[in-house]
Amino acid sequence: MRNDPDQRVSHAAGQRLAGRHASEPGATAGPAAAELPPDPDWHRRTIFYEIRVRSFADGNGDGIGDFAGLTERLDYLQWLGVGTLVLTPIYDSPLEDDGHDTSDFHRVHPDLGTLDEFLDFVTAAHRRGIRVMLDLVLNHTSRQHRWFQESRRDPTGRYGDFYVWQEASEPSADGDDHWTLDRVRGQYYWHRFGVCEPDLNFDSDDVQQAMIDVLRYWLDRGVDGFRLVTAPYLYERVGVGGEGLDETHTYLHRLRREVDEHYTGRLLLGWADRWPSGASEYFGSAERPECGVVLYTSLMPRIFLGMRQETHYPVSEVLSETTRIRDDCQWASFLRNGDELSLENVGENDRAYLRNMYAPSPRMLTDSGIRRRLAPLLDGDRSQLELCMALLLSLPGSPVLYYGDEIGMGENLALPDCAAIRTPMQWTADRGAGFSTAEPDNLASPLVVSPAYAPAVVNVESQRVERRSVLKTVRGLVQTRRKSEALTIGAFEPVASHNAAVLAYLRRTRTSAVLCLANFSQYAQAAALSLEEFAGRQPIEMSGHTRFALIGADEYPVTLSGHGFFWFDLAETAGGTA
Ligand code: MG
Ligand code: CA
Repeated sequence: MRNDPDQRVSHAAGQRLAGRHASEPGATAGPAAAELPPDPDWHRRTIFYEIRVRSFADGNGDGIGDFAGLTERLDYLQWLGVGTLVLTPIYDSPLEDDGHDTSDFHRVHPDLGTLDEFLDFVTAAHRRGIRVMLDLVLNHTSRQHRWFQESRRDPTGRYGDFYVWQEASEPSADGDDHWTLDRVRGQYYWHRFGVCEPDLNFDSDDVQQAMIDVLRYWLDRGVDGFRLVTAPYLYERVGVGGEGLDETHTYLHRLRREVDEHYTGRLLLGWADRWPSGASEYFGSAERPECGVVLYTSLMPRIFLGMRQETHYPVSEVLSETTRIRDDCQWASFLRNGDELSLENVGENDRAYLRNMYAPSPRMLTDSGIRRRLAPLLDGDRSQLELCMALLLSLPGSPVLYYGDEIGMGENLALPDCAAIRTPMQWTADRGAGFSTAEPDNLASPLVVSPAYAPAVVNVESQRVERRSVLKTVRGLVQTRRKSEALTIGAFEPVASHNAAVLAYLRRTRTSAVLCLANFSQYAQAAALSLEEFAGRQPIEMSGHTRFALIGADEYPVTLSGHGFFWFDLAETAGGTA
């Protein structure tokens, strides 16, 4: 009975609903979803799956994805094997910036359903052992938010200093306009991002507390954590810039303390576009922890560089500069998120190279990157796509899959900006892609139309039937990773391959070791691996359980097909388990 997830969840739900936290100061009373049993380590082992609820599945036929539809698709997500769903912003919003402009943090957007439907979804996910995290934009609100409306009307009132106001505009270092005149208040407000997104003033104690209340509200509802979008930009100081200031780290630590004090096993995931040394600052220290997981933003562009340069050096370089992190922390690696392929984290030459290689048409570019999905970035080449997925699922870090990339979905460049990569999930070949029963004209987002990527060609249903589809390959890798302690949390150790195209590395624990090989070249390659330490072991290829030649005292020869990869279990000596 202890192993029946339903039983465990209901038991936890019973405790939860009996008000286990409700008597604590700051806790918010009200309905809550069933919780999962505590596991302080889940964030180091999970596979994240990022979902834009509006684009995933429409349960009520109004053309907009919603919680009811998402709940119906949980069986698919469980079958795929992902462990944690990350929902892009679900809060009430005028949608001037796809929900990153929040107008009410305490309310789900009515398009997506009611709070009860959200809680039913979280409970249903938890019953399947799947966790749910929410994107939370701390840095700013929508200008429609009540706080901003009050702030502009009444500078001396309760919300007067909730935003960053000053008498005059100022030129900014990056050449963008960050100050906009508000005619009601007669002052300028600071916005790190769009004009529609005034920055909150974190120098105000009331703002600090208000955002803690937001976190606690959703944690009390049963969500498992937050991806903190815009985390580096909370504070800004004249002449210093506004990224990763000490004050920002102090506040992130305060959030972490607040979460750890009142809840168990909840996660703060930080998003900072930095080289590993800078990004790792968002883990904080053992004494002053901040985020349990930080996005491994520097790895992603280097995988794309390596794919086109047909060498592993860009990837090896970033891996070698990634120093060991605390045992309670983890990176979150990704190939695509629901934003552009950011070019902010690479040097000028690499930026130009990536633009030339991956954005042959100027309409593929945004201000800061390339608005394309994984499959088209890789020319729709099946073997490159599978190689990238194999890297994602075997390099250090908890991987983030972006919805639809597991079937090789494309983009719709006729849509503005990043809407191009936020089109409806393609479930079937039907006219609504199985996403919605609404008339195609009534879909909130048009479908992908290009012949190579349209729902008729790329969809879940057909790939679940096909004997060897991209989806089945990705699922196979996901399942293999889940079963392997070494691939999940094993230490990373590079192995010399004597071939610039072939990346070789070990993931290992005290009792297990997996050897990973990835060929960045389009041509077949031979490599000679220094594996003397494993002499006498027999590598077993993990997808088909095929035994390869024994490792001897000399360098171990392997050959890989163009863009080929291998995961070898090194556990066994010839004739038995080591
Ligand atoms: Mg709907
Ligand atoms: Ca700010």
